[in-house]
Amino acid sequence: MKRAVYPGSFDPMTYGHLDIIRRAADIFDELTVSVLNNKEKTPLFSVSERVKILEEATKDMPNVRIDSFSGLLINYARENNMHVIVRGLRAITDFEYELQIAQTNRILSCEQVDTMFLTTSLEYAYLSSSSVKEIASFGGDISRCVPEFVARKTYGKYGVSKPDIPPHAAEGLKG
Ligand code: ADP
Repeated sequence: MKRAVYPGSFDPMTYGHLDIIRRAADIFDELTVSVLNNKEKTPLFSVSERVKILEEATKDMPNVRIDSFSGLLINYARENNMHVIVRGLRAITDFEYELQIAQTNRILSCEQVDTMFLTTSLEYAYLSSSSVKEIASFGGDISRCVPEFVARKTYGKYGVSKPDIPPHAAEGLKG
C-alpha cells in the first residue's frame, strides 16, 4: 500500500490544489490531504472550515482522505505510515523554498520519507490562495480560481454580496 500526504494551508483550496490532488491520487493507493494547523498564521478559514471544503471538493475521489495536523510534518507522516510527501511546484520561486524543506524533512526522517513534486498544470500556474483572497476582498472575479461553493464562502468572509464577475459565472454563485 503506497500512502502519501499532501500537506498545505489550503486557505482556501484552489483549482491548482485540486489538480495536484487528482494527479497524486492517480499515483498513490491512498492520498491524505492534510491541513496544517499553523498557530503563527492568521487564516481566513478555520482548520475545520478548510477540512470541510476539501472534503466536499474531493468527495468523488475514493482514495483521498482529508485530515489536519499540527507540529512537525515528518512526525505526522511517520505516525500515519506515509512515506511520500507531495508538494506542488508553480515556479522557480517555489522551488528554492521547497527544496530546502524537502531536504530537511529527508534528514529528519532518517531518509525514510521522501518528497515528490508535481509541476502545476499551466492553466493554474498563476494561482495562489493569497491572490484569491486579495481579489475576493475587493469583490473581483475568482470564478476561474476556485469551485463555486468556495467562491461563495470566500466572498462571504469579506462581506462581499455582489462580486464584480461575468454573468455566466455569477449564475453559479447564487444558490
Ligand atoms: P503552504 O502554506 O504549505 O505553501 P498552500 O496551501 O499555499 O500551503 O500550498 C500547498 C501546496 O500546494 C504547496 O506545495 C504549493 O506549492 C502547492 N500549490 C499551491 N498553489 C498551486 C497551484 N496553483 N498549482 C500547483 N500547486 C500549487
